[in-house]
Amino acid sequence: MKFLCILCVLCGFASGARALEREAFTIAKYDLEIRLEPEQQRLGARGKITLRNDSARPQKIVALQISSSLNWRSIRVDGKTVQFVSQPYISDIDHTGALSEAIVTLPAEIKPKDSVELEIGYEGVIPLDATRLTRVGVPDEIARHSSWDQISPSFTAVRGAGYVAWYPITTESADFSEGNSLFEVADRWKKREQDASMKLSLSTDAGIDDARLILLCSAVGLSGDTRGGNPHNHWATCEYERLGLATPIFAMGDYNQDQSKPPLHLFSLSGHEAGAATYSSALEPAMKFVSGWFGQPTAPVAIADFADSNSAPFESGTLLMASMAAEDSKLAGINLVHELVHSALPSSRPWVYEGLAHFAEAMYRQEQGGRQAALDLLGLHRAAFLDSEKELAAAPQKSAGQPLASTFDETYYRSKAAYVWWMLRDMVGDETLKQAIRKYRSEDDNIKDPKYVERLIEAAAKRDLGWFFDDWVYRDRGVPDFRVQSVHPWKTEKGAPIVTVTLENLGNAGAEVPFTIVFEGGEITKRIEVRAKGTATTRVELPGTASEIVINDGSVPESDLTNNVFQISASQK
Ligand SMILES: [Zn+2]
Repeated sequence: MKFLCILCVLCGFASGARALEREAFTIAKYDLEIRLEPEQQRLGARGKITLRNDSARPQKIVALQISSSLNWRSIRVDGKTVQFVSQPYISDIDHTGALSEAIVTLPAEIKPKDSVELEIGYEGVIPLDATRLTRVGVPDEIARHSSWDQISPSFTAVRGAGYVAWYPITTESADFSEGNSLFEVADRWKKREQDASMKLSLSTDAGIDDARLILLCSAVGLSGDTRGGNPHNHWATCEYERLGLATPIFAMGDYNQDQSKPPLHLFSLSGHEAGAATYSSALEPAMKFVSGWFGQPTAPVAIADFADSNSAPFESGTLLMASMAAEDSKLAGINLVHELVHSALPSSRPWVYEGLAHFAEAMYRQEQGGRQAALDLLGLHRAAFLDSEKELAAAPQKSAGQPLASTFDETYYRSKAAYVWWMLRDMVGDETLKQAIRKYRSEDDNIKDPKYVERLIEAAAKRDLGWFFDDWVYRDRGVPDFRVQSVHPWKTEKGAPIVTVTLENLGNAGAEVPFTIVFEGGEITKRIEVRAKGTATTRVELPGTASEIVINDGSVPESDLTNNVFQISASQK
């Protein structure tokens, strides 16, 4: 019966929604004052938002959405209250699995590309809620560590759109149980909002028991603990000139900042002193490494602790939320390297900004544990995008995939991009790539010159890389699939053993791949460029008779690794 009722409700919305274009308006500007009352888990907000009609038709109705645990209080245009109907809207874009939607009738039609400013007020509570995960069968314990957003007296941390709609959004319904629906809706929202600006002013009255309470948010800003003559009024202001791909987040806790050293702000919780000290002592070597590759990190970056040490880490721009409960110097090192790369190298291109940071983590791991340790770290990224690449390969006519240059899918601009930078480094060498990266300027990397990065590396390497950028960056051509097509062992006149090896790439993306020839008493590794759907042949001189060829040490993402080992039979020898 309950199921039937839910069905009725859904049908009701669906019929009413037909005329409503929920994604017609983009919110171009936010200016919000947020008041937190952690004892009651409450949030109260008021401020102004600017809506721009990005659809092709004039619009008079707008659907504004906030988390279902919040309620709309007032909506005004030009100082006059406007009529709105508030209704629940089922959508997994919020942690509660639903939104409070205000269907607003604007005083006048807004023409395409025109904007309207709304004064808004809303309030409610944000308790921990893992509904959207538990209702698709994720065990409660796991769901709580992933869906950790909440306002609470002991610790507060709340992520924005995609997790908790604590600021208004305008989206179609997203469904976690339907393949990629949630990610598609959330990525579409990010894409529409990338140029939006956001100004936040957060505050809380902590009372007299407020020794170390710190309120922070994830953008350039300020914070403090006295205002308006009230010594317990803690506040933070944050400003995004452009949201980019960042998900705004705010956090509040009894944070200790003693281990901070510029440019790093370290916010640790009591009981985690040893973990914070691990971060602090890992800072100097990480700074040295990042400076050598990416330039001196100077812009402030922050790492903030979690009260629940099992909370999944989360990054928003230059703020990383990660537990400091453990004294893990390896993890602290790579987390620091990642954030310091952001500090040293700003970029509005996600595959450059995040791709380089993840690539740097792998290089840092190599410095400490060798190439295999680095490839193991990169390997953790492989599964993330390989499944989507395989789907694309199976039905290439269905979509253009996710080209790195334009994707809003983080598995691509983080995981695939890390591999692309690693392959470039293997192809052109450390010094050459360093030289290119040090010349990189975010302001020169713009829409007018989509090939800026390619040109920088080509100039340093004195080598044509157009084919590589075509296959991996400008287009999504999937990944290669290498196999040995033929092997011919022979001997020179003087009797020195040589093998002629022909490798084939069955995939649609070309790459330079390492291959290892095992011979009596040792092995030798060479590299060879094999273009998409092509073959390449090379001769290798050996000190002994070859027995086996292994293609790819894991540095090139590949769709099928089962055909990478080739035994050279006795008859061929
Ligand atoms: Zn990052």
